[in-house]
Amino acid sequence: MSSWIFRQAHAKEISASHSDGAELLRIVQEKEDLYDVDYGYAVSELERLTELTGGLHAMSLPDHSRHLVWGISDNGSRVSFCSICIEDDIRKHTFPVWRVQWSYCWYTVCHRHKCALTTLSGNYRPITLKNRGRCAFRFTVEKNHPSSKASAAPKRNELIPRISFLLELIELAFKMQSHIDNLINLKHSDQAWREISAIRDFCDAAIFIERGRVCPLAHDLTKYAFGRLAREYQLGPQTRKYDLEGTSCQERCARTRLSALAVAACVFGVEGALDGLQRLSSAGREIGVLVPVTIPWLYTASVGGVGSISRNWCLDRARGYPIEIRDKLLEISSAPITPKEMAPTKGIPYSKS
Ligand SMILES: [Zn+2]
Repeated sequence: MSSWIFRQAHAKEISASHSDGAELLRIVQEKEDLYDVDYGYAVSELERLTELTGGLHAMSLPDHSRHLVWGISDNGSRVSFCSICIEDDIRKHTFPVWRVQWSYCWYTVCHRHKCALTTLSGNYRPITLKNRGRCAFRFTVEKNHPSSKASAAPKRNELIPRISFLLELIELAFKMQSHIDNLINLKHSDQAWREISAIRDFCDAAIFIERGRVCPLAHDLTKYAFGRLAREYQLGPQTRKYDLEGTSCQERCARTRLSALAVAACVFGVEGALDGLQRLSSAGREIGVLVPVTIPWLYTASVGGVGSISRNWCLDRARGYPIEIRDKLLEISSAPITPKEMAPTKGIPYSKS
């Protein structure tokens, strides 16, 4: 919504010094202060926005409310974007256009460019959502500046296995993302809604870090695929105050959500995911990360071992899932993991960091 307002203002060449521009800015600022810059506009406000911009009718926007099933709920989390889309925007319109899909938790791979979304963090982290476009602009321009590439470039022979690992991970996440998109298109199906809940619960548990437990697989996958995590993602359990339910809705880093979706694609048996898992696992061995190839082991590495809070929570929630999904998850979670499977043939043991 905020992106739409700024585009309309830009198209009409309304500047902040103009009285209409000042009023537009005031409406946006008020939303930002009181509620959320992207949602919760009253009908009267939408009418006024249409009058001020004189453009496309604001009421015609398809989605005024936050995505009910699985939207990113925290005002500060909606800061992930496709860097190639933003580069295109800057070339075409000179400013970034924020896409509504970037606010959906399961949307972590750009469907146009098949690349992972980037999350603004560190020096680029916006203080308010209103200036995320400006931060993304600065990020994009500075990232493409030659001096930023000079340091810490990996050697070529390290780069190729890392890239194939990254591409396999993106491919798996994209399979799950497309599967969820299909489920969402079946708007009135109760079965589809319950399947989405099951996938969301799994992702919540896969991202949740329990005190005293080894770091879940999703975080490790992110670390190995994308390199070192930003500082705020390294801090560990003490910084994660939110509850287990909704963890994936609060997870700011799109790349961590991407890893959870990739694992979910394998656990939920999305078409072609098992072949992808084999390829991910062998690419992982090349760079020294162990990715389990059997589903019970993958499940345990993601949601925790027997007795862990997140695993118990997942099994408890399974009662509400469609029967075949519930049975499948119960079967996966009760299957024994043999010592042979636990022993990696190559590479390093499962990291504790
Ligand atoms: Zn893109």
